[in-house]
Amino acid sequence: MTYTPAADRYEKMVYRRCGKSGLQLPAISLGLWHNFGHDTPHQVKRDICRTAFDLGITHFDLANNYGPPPGSAEEAFGDILKTDFAGYRDELIISSKAGYNMWDGPYGEWGSRKYLVASCDQSLKRMGLDYVDIFYSHRFDPDTPLEETMMALDHIVRSGRALYVGISSYNSQRTREAYAILKELGTPLVIHQPSYNILNRWVEHDGLKDTLADLGVGSIAFTPLAQGILTKKYLGGIPQGSRAAQGKSLDPATITESAIASVKALDAMAQQRGQTLAQMAIAWVLRNGGITTALIGASKPEQVVDCAGAIGNLDFSAAELDEIDRIAAE
Ligand code: NDP
Repeated sequence: MTYTPAADRYEKMVYRRCGKSGLQLPAISLGLWHNFGHDTPHQVKRDICRTAFDLGITHFDLANNYGPPPGSAEEAFGDILKTDFAGYRDELIISSKAGYNMWDGPYGEWGSRKYLVASCDQSLKRMGLDYVDIFYSHRFDPDTPLEETMMALDHIVRSGRALYVGISSYNSQRTREAYAILKELGTPLVIHQPSYNILNRWVEHDGLKDTLADLGVGSIAFTPLAQGILTKKYLGGIPQGSRAAQGKSLDPATITESAIASVKALDAMAQQRGQTLAQMAIAWVLRNGGITTALIGASKPEQVVDCAGAIGNLDFSAAELDEIDRIAAE
């Protein structure tokens, strides 16, 4: 059946400026790391993307290696662009990345100009796009001069392959260096993609969050739900079909009794706030505007609906924030 996006989609989402750039992003973005490979029926992928767009989620995040197999998530999204989102390209922010292992030999990973430009071309081909909105260096490469990686990003923009550039998981010091090189090249660093959630505070300890605020660079926090731990999903054990049950990136060994005790305490707080636990976890990431957008994943459309509801209450009292810190530290 032909898909027509919900007419009121832009009333259901809030959009936040990405640092000091002209780009606005939805407070909730959707990532296609899992559940968009050959292990998931295509109709489920379509339903997840349609549900997201209906809720005003305009930003879809990909990478060369998302699948399985690597590349298949971009192919699936390319199909969805042709079938469901045809005619809506200018309403979408589509990102991709290169940095992790993608093909054999010395040019298939890390941060060389050779790899980044070739990988970007492959991503565009898989998605059937002329350009991506954001292209990222997926990880810092200790063996390639940072100047070369940043010059490759600059080239990707100047050659029309991307509109904006970002970096992912770079620490605070490397971020400052990347920012300075890109500024000199004339292609600003618009966004950083780090992991961040109630249970994973490295961006605070490393000083990255303050650095981004200082530089006026936007941020998109990945795994805001700690891959599903910060939902009610694992409170009664490891359910069939869940990420932890499927031997994917979430190691069941991390779902310890003490982790579950913390999650139960957080769930009680969420209930007092009139939110689901997933909603509170996302709202926490977005609190005080410190992070531009929370980058969720979903295996079902209903999860997207639940997560998008987070924007109903993004405010926390000082006492609530203290209590969350106390529970997370246990
Ligand atoms: P999340 O922390 O949001 O975890 C998503 C998982 O949580 C879902 O697959 C689902 O698990 C569960 N879930 C989501 N919503 C709900 C809900 N409302 N109720 C119950 N369970 C829910 O993020 P991801 O780990 O998926 O990462 C998000 C995105 O971040 C990726 O798609 C990717 O775009 C990006 N990313 C970037 C990285 C980088 O290096 N730059 C690294 C990793 C991710 P289940 O499948 O078990 O149902």
